[in-house]
Amino acid sequence: MNSSNIIVKVSENIKKNINSGQLFIISAPSGAGKTTLCKIILDRFPDLLYSVSFTTRQPRQGEKDGKDYHFITKEEFLSGIKKEMWAEWAEVYGNYYGTSAYFLNNAIAKGENVLIDIDVQGASIMLQLYPDSVTIFIQPPSIDVLKSRLKKRGTDSEETIKKRMAAVEQEIAQQHLYTYTVINDDLSKAAEELTSIVSGAMGCDEKYQN
Ligand code: ADP
Ligand code: 5GP
Repeated sequence: MNSSNIIVKVSENIKKNINSGQLFIISAPSGAGKTTLCKIILDRFPDLLYSVSFTTRQPRQGEKDGKDYHFITKEEFLSGIKKEMWAEWAEVYGNYYGTSAYFLNNAIAKGENVLIDIDVQGASIMLQLYPDSVTIFIQPPSIDVLKSRLKKRGTDSEETIKKRMAAVEQEIAQQHLYTYTVINDDLSKAAEELTSIVSGAMGCDEKYQN
């Protein structure tokens, strides 16, 4: 290899790091452990930005406005649709959820790496917008375990749990659209798998904080 080859290689790397951050899209049936795993990943990768969605759902105990979600009214959400505020939006389990186009455009322009937690409908829209996204589906070890996790979490009414359980099979049927599937049985094992996917895609094996 002559020296000009080396220069070309280096400049390509710099271009990738400066201009093109990686988008990570994570989906899962409700209760599979997506929020828990996202928190672990965000702790491990301080440079990874989290796309805080907007929702009309009521906050759960312990959830913070602006951190877990931006909690807004249905009227505000519908007005956001008219104003084209959402990069994508969907009605999920009877509530509205949307990704801020402003946040996403800014982050992408700066070449940031971004983690987005969205449902399967949102993921397919985001994939059309950003086909190079790394997509990860978190799967529970079984439907029974999923149900017992939702009950144990203690944040949802019987009716809400029923609504969420009714969607599971349809959600799992979309799993083939994702680049990776991580089965969240043992939490630390699932976290390791996710860490290895993220660090591989970010090209930063030694960078994450364990
Ligand atoms: P999601 O965001 O996918 O709805 P959560 O992250 O809220 O799911 O997890 C649902 C519940 O299951 C929480 O109470 C969480 O602490 C628990 N949980 C998550 N992963 C595991 C696991 N691997 N084993 C046992 N419980 C888990
Ligand atoms: P939860 O109410 O349990 O926090 O989330 C319910 C579902 O909404 C999950 O599948 C979650 O991934 C999805 N979700 C959260 N934010 C968004 C969003 O901005 N857009 C879409 N399409 N789905 C979202």
